[in-house]
Amino acid sequence: MPYFPSTFPAVAPTLDDRRFWELCANRRLCFQRCDDCGGLRHPPTPLCPRCQSLSCNWSEAPSIGRIFSYTVVHHPSHADAKPAIPYNVVLVEFDGFDGVRLVSNVIDAAPADLAVGGRVEIDWDEGTGGQLLPRFRLIPTDRPAPAS
Ligand SMILES: [Zn+2]
Repeated sequence: MPYFPSTFPAVAPTLDDRRFWELCANRRLCFQRCDDCGGLRHPPTPLCPRCQSLSCNWSEAPSIGRIFSYTVVHHPSHADAKPAIPYNVVLVEFDGFDGVRLVSNVIDAAPADLAVGGRVEIDWDEGTGGQLLPRFRLIPTDRPAPAS
């Protein structure tokens, strides 16, 4: 079941983030990496903010991340999200992907279950029109961390 109701508007890709969403459609969460300085960035931009290079590639993030921060929303930003309240919004970061944090949601998590530093695993959510969205599920604390 989608995180938000099927009436919630789909993401409308722009020229800058179209490739990000194309990769998501193939269940690949990838971030831009500058070809010249190696810096990662998100959201996608045509120009590296560090060295102004226009050349970049896409690096696939690990499937497991960590909650950097979160909030629980009781007043939805869009009327079609009202049936989902209270819903969470999380910032997820990934090992080896310094400088990149993804705004997303944790599926099937009560507000009390969320914590800064909590480990999450990607779970592709089918949004409006079948668009695949990178959302997450909590990893039980008794599950061992992956070898790094
Ligand atoms: Zn750069």
